[in-house]
Amino acid sequence: MSDAPVLILGGTFDPIHFGHLRPALEAMAAIDYPQLRLVPAARPPHRETPLASAEQRLAMARLAAESDQRIEVDDREFHRPGPSWTIDTLQSFREEWPQRPLALLIGEDSLHQFNTWKRWRDIPQLAHIVAMHRPGKDREIPEWAKARATSDREELKKQLAGRFFFAEVSPNPVSATTLRARLKNGEDISGMTPDSVIKYIQQHKLYQNS
Ligand code: ATP
Repeated sequence: MSDAPVLILGGTFDPIHFGHLRPALEAMAAIDYPQLRLVPAARPPHRETPLASAEQRLAMARLAAESDQRIEVDDREFHRPGPSWTIDTLQSFREEWPQRPLALLIGEDSLHQFNTWKRWRDIPQLAHIVAMHRPGKDREIPEWAKARATSDREELKKQLAGRFFFAEVSPNPVSATTLRARLKNGEDISGMTPDSVIKYIQQHKLYQNS
């Protein structure tokens, strides 16, 4: 198992929802990887401060991961100071696992902002990039990805890093923004995230007065 490939999904997860989990599991099946690592961002650099605390977002990710034994939550971003840059996270994975193929999973919106990320050109040296469709976004492959693009999933297992793959996943309209808005308005969020996460949100009275 120690050389088994790993699919990595980083996110703010404020909160985690089925728009993360379902497309990610489908992408995992599409590339035939056995494991999904959720990496909650301790201090996400590219956006406003999340409403839930880092510990609460981590706790919700852990609850969501209980629904499927192929999913693990990785808290490595909580163990280093400063902004949670993806390049640093991938470097840390690569040091831990020099021989495992790694793939970074990103939604289509993130794909089109990818070239604003810190040291983004170095990221493909550490991991493959797998994009998943997100409703409302064009299925357009950015220039930087074209030279790396492959439709042969075996390459994502034979090579440790460096390829780009567009995973066909069922469009899922859930976003954390809509989920937070519904909670603020006192609306039901059943079916948008696992029941255990809904219970946690209720217990901790999250997202009520944003
Ligand atoms: P927010 O609405 O607060 O911006 P979000 O729902 O987009 O949050 P993030 O934690 O920022 O969630 O997303 C983590 C990753 O998951 C990103 O790469 C994002 O593109 C992807 N993602 C989130 N929701 C979906 C979805 N419904 N379909 C596909 N990818 C998604």
